Amino acid sequence: MQGMMMTMPLSIIEILRYAAEAHPGAGIVSVRTEGDVHRETYAEAYARAAQLAHGLGALGVGQGDRVATLAWNGYRHFELYFATAGMGAVCHTINPRLSAEQMLYIIRHAGDRVLCFDLTFVPLIEALVEHLPADLMLVVLTDRGHMPESALDLHCYEDLLTGQPEFYDWPLLDENSAAGLCYTSGTTGNPKGALYSHRSTVLHALSIAVTLPRSLHEGARVLPVVPMFHVNSWGLPYAAPIVGASLVMPGGKLDGASLFDLMETESVSASWGVPTVWLGLRAEIEKRGALPSSLKQLVIGGSAAPRAMIEFFEKRGVDVCHAWGMTEMSPVGTHGQLSDSMSDLPFERRMALKARQGRRVFGVELKINDEQGKRLPHDGKAVGELFVRGNTIIAGYFENAEASKSAFDAEGWFGTGDVASIDPHGFLSIQDRSKDLIKSGGEWISSIDLENIAMAHPKVANCAVIAVPHPKWDERPLLVVVPRDADDPPSLDEIHALMLDHVAKWQLPDAMEMIDALPLTATGKVSKLTLRQRFDGYELP
Ligand code: ADP
Repeated sequence: MQGMMMTMPLSIIEILRYAAEAHPGAGIVSVRTEGDVHRETYAEAYARAAQLAHGLGALGVGQGDRVATLAWNGYRHFELYFATAGMGAVCHTINPRLSAEQMLYIIRHAGDRVLCFDLTFVPLIEALVEHLPADLMLVVLTDRGHMPESALDLHCYEDLLTGQPEFYDWPLLDENSAAGLCYTSGTTGNPKGALYSHRSTVLHALSIAVTLPRSLHEGARVLPVVPMFHVNSWGLPYAAPIVGASLVMPGGKLDGASLFDLMETESVSASWGVPTVWLGLRAEIEKRGALPSSLKQLVIGGSAAPRAMIEFFEKRGVDVCHAWGMTEMSPVGTHGQLSDSMSDLPFERRMALKARQGRRVFGVELKINDEQGKRLPHDGKAVGELFVRGNTIIAGYFENAEASKSAFDAEGWFGTGDVASIDPHGFLSIQDRSKDLIKSGGEWISSIDLENIAMAHPKVANCAVIAVPHPKWDERPLLVVVPRDADDPPSLDEIHALMLDHVAKWQLPDAMEMIDALPLTATGKVSKLTLRQRFDGYELP
């Protein structure tokens, strides 16, 4: 028997229409590439999204067309998200840290019709232009007064809006129609596209809004450090307007001092980003001897949050939520919010739980399989490949049958490439990406575990553990350390002593190398691939 309820398609523009009506005081604060700070309410953003949709229509953009962005976090990028989705087009966010070759590949692969970019990227576009498709329209995200002098045929974003009506008759779209396109950073091979729908995007936004109320509530002021070009800022631009939280958009300056100042002046209550950005904020907090005064929660994900980092913030009264996810999952899969009963546990126990990747969000199912594809128990001990299923997870890669074929198991679950255990309370522990695990004499060593412990050493500013070849054991762990003080680095013995409390002797790193800074991927995570290349041929003592 069928239920007898209306069916309204889930729609992204409906989020902004709702926010404009229900949360008129909330909105977006943006540090602009022009150098000043800009403010607009969601009502203003909604009116401008309508003008933008008319402007894009005048350029010839229609339903299903891909509109690419190369932009920092800011209100114009936000308006593009909603205008393109509302009119039935697709917003393709491009990561500016990709190599030129990868960028050109995805622009062509996506079939982009328009490319909208911040002033910062004018030189980049000028350098690439002869390789770009000839009919790609170029829009600079600025006003007439700031338009660059350039030989290129450039449109001005504000000119697209000027004179256009503040009302748009948004079409009623199929909720499964495409709305956003984001490519994985493709550390090996070409990047692969995750094509989000209205339905998946709205469900993801609702799911994180329900799961993370400490960040997402009416009156909250959330700073997404995670870029809008990295899996839609983990969904914040969609979830914040629903609940009436304001967004504080940092533009391109993401160093510790700039983030601290912005958090202070804009009374930021929560901020989300990858572990590497919090190293900078931590150093700034130590330098100033104070926290940004309104900061209540940090959500850390994208790679494992070291326990020492979690403890640093928690000891100072900032709640840390460790989250896990992937581009292919919209991206949030699990969150480290503790249940009420867990919140009463002693500090050490709580930190041990928070260092794990947390429990699944509503709508995402998790399972671990052994190498034969047999399900393993969620007993906290069995370790296997992590598979996921749910409405916010890709059903295939955009225009890539080859990659889509191998991404799912026989039951249709998506293989994450992560190796993990799940405990009886549902807490996920990511051991490693399967390609980063160290395979020593037929046993596995988790690089994440070793890094976590080394990060707790006071002389270690940052570190990574990689596998190096070994004639007898196949692979052994090498610890690469960025010391806090290059003249006073930690010794391997000191690190071993720390590790021996937590891991078996045979798992200890065989050697340690000092480095000035760890190489980062396009999404700001430590690039183990680059590190492995750098230490290629390394001979263990
Ligand atoms: P890429 O980094 O390749 O651009 P993603 O951002 O989609 O792509 O990265 C997803 C991967 O990042 C996951 O499969 C996992 O390996 C890693 N990851 C994300 N969050 C965490 C976390 N909290 N702990 C450990 N690993 C994480």
